[in-house]
Amino acid sequence: MKILDNVFLVPGVVANPYILVDSDGLTIIDTGLPRSERKILAYVASLGRSAHDVKRILLTHSDLDHVGGLAALHKLTGARTYASRIEADAIAAGKSSRQINISGFSVRRLMFTLLRPFMKAAPFQVDEVLTDGQILPALGGLRVIDTSGHTPGHISLFAPAAGILFCGDSLVTDENGIHGSRPGLTWDDAKAREAERKQAALGAHIVCSGHGPVVMDATGKFPL
Ligand SMILES: [Zn+2]
Repeated sequence: MKILDNVFLVPGVVANPYILVDSDGLTIIDTGLPRSERKILAYVASLGRSAHDVKRILLTHSDLDHVGGLAALHKLTGARTYASRIEADAIAAGKSSRQINISGFSVRRLMFTLLRPFMKAAPFQVDEVLTDGQILPALGGLRVIDTSGHTPGHISLFAPAAGILFCGDSLVTDENGIHGSRPGLTWDDAKAREAERKQAALGAHIVCSGHGPVVMDATGKFPL
């Protein structure tokens, strides 16, 4: 799905992967659940590009639905891979970067307990550690923003020139707008609120989340 002339959402993958097109090649943000690499590369092909055009793979955080396709996608593309220090360490260990404690009985807790043994990605060593404020060479300057809260090392990516924000799971979108990191899946609620406020202040016009539709007219839709 085309978001801008040089920004695309790969449909049919959990969580949403995004493709950025620049003159030096493609950047992929997040890689979906394991075995999502085929769908992502089929979409790359639909843009008239090949796997070798993918130069960078950026990870917002180490949850399985964001890093599941990472190892295979790296192998097939040879792209350079990036994550924050905390998330890179978790990815290298093949684990989540935080413990999720869902209290009480709920369907979500039951599902989580049943699925836990399957919720692991193969350990993978990323090439480069991202730090807050770093500018990456995509979309005329893609800024790394520390949005820890959902996980301890979560990052978002913001391109001021295009007014577009890739927020991973630090924000969730639906038909009603933009919401904070999902309760029960959040490592630190206070930090998650701080990450919401920080992102609301960026002046982004377009918000691309890990879960939910792209919000094209984001002004005034951030959580208060
Ligand atoms: Zn997540």
